[in-house]
Amino acid sequence: MLRIAIQKSGRLSEKSLELLSEAGINFANSERKLVAKAGNFPVEALYLRDDDIPQCVADGVADVGIVGENVVMEKGYKLEVVERLGFGKCRLSLAIPKNIDYEKLSWFNGRKIATSYPNILRKFLVQNGVKADIHEISGSVEISTGIGIAEAIFDIVSSGSTLISNGLKEVVEAAKSEAVMVGKNSRLTAEKKEILDTLLFRLHAVQKGRKNKYVLLNAPLEKVDKITAVIPGMKSPTVVPLAQSGWCSIHSVLPDNEFWEIIEKLKKLGAQGILVMPIEKMIV
Ligand code: ATP
Ligand code: ZN
Repeated sequence: MLRIAIQKSGRLSEKSLELLSEAGINFANSERKLVAKAGNFPVEALYLRDDDIPQCVADGVADVGIVGENVVMEKGYKLEVVERLGFGKCRLSLAIPKNIDYEKLSWFNGRKIATSYPNILRKFLVQNGVKADIHEISGSVEISTGIGIAEAIFDIVSSGSTLISNGLKEVVEAAKSEAVMVGKNSRLTAEKKEILDTLLFRLHAVQKGRKNKYVLLNAPLEKVDKITAVIPGMKSPTVVPLAQSGWCSIHSVLPDNEFWEIIEKLKKLGAQGILVMPIEKMIV
C-alpha cells in the first residue's frame, strides 16, 4: 500500500483527485475522512493541510505527497520531486504600492516586507545582496501595505488580480511554482516502489494526453509532403486515402503549446476540414 498525502481542502484538492482519478485511482468516500483507500489500486489518500504535507513525507507518515513547490521550498525538507504535475501554477513575487517609482532591487534595502514565505524570501534577498526586514504573517499578506504593517509584500501571484485590487504592482519574480509530487525514494520498500512506478506510468500517460491534441484534416495529395513536414507527429502521421480522388485524410498528434501556429501553417498549405480532439491518455 502506497500512502499519498493530498491537500484536504483548497486550491490543489480537486485537481489532485481529478488527476488520480484519470489515472484510474478513485477514493470512495466523498466526505474525506483523514485516510481513504482507493477502490481498485493499492493506494490510500491522507488528507492534510498543504503546510503539513512536506513534513509528513519527510517523516515517512506518507510515502509521497501532492503539494505546491512553493510550500516544499519554504519548509526546506530534503524531498525529491517525483513528478511535476502541471497545475496550480503560480509565482512568488515582490510587490509594492503601485504609485511608487521603482527601478531596481536595491529599493528594498531597509524596507519592511510582509510574507508567509520568510525562508524563500530570506534566501532570495541574501542571493541578491539586499538587506530588508522580513515580517512574517500567516495570511492576507496582500493587505499589509494598505494597513501600514509593511512597505512591500512577497507573496504568491497567479493572475495578478489580487495585487491590482489591493493597489499593488508586481516588481520582481523570485520563483515559479506548480503542484508537484514529492517523495523520499530511498526509503520506499520494493513493494511501494513498484506501486509508485505503476502510478507514475499512468500519470505520464494522463499528462502527455493533456499536453497534446489529436488532429484530423483533409489535404490535397500533392501537398502531403509539405503538410506532414509541418506536423511534429508521434512517429509519422497516418495518411489515409479519401473517396474523392486527389485527396487524403491526415491524422496526427499536435503539442498544445505549438498548436495554433501549426494549424495556421496547415491552413496556408491547403488543409481543410480540420478536426481537433482532446486526448485522454497517451502511451508512447
Ligand atoms: P491549507 O488550508 O491547506 O493550508 P492554503 O490556504 O495554504 O491551504 P491554498 O490557497 O489552497 O493554500 O493554495 C494551495 C496552493 O495552490 C498554493 O500553495 C500554491 O502552490 C497554489 N496556488 C496556485 N495559484 C494560487 C493563487 N493564485 N493563490 C494561492 N495559491 C495558489
Ligand atoms: Zn496552507
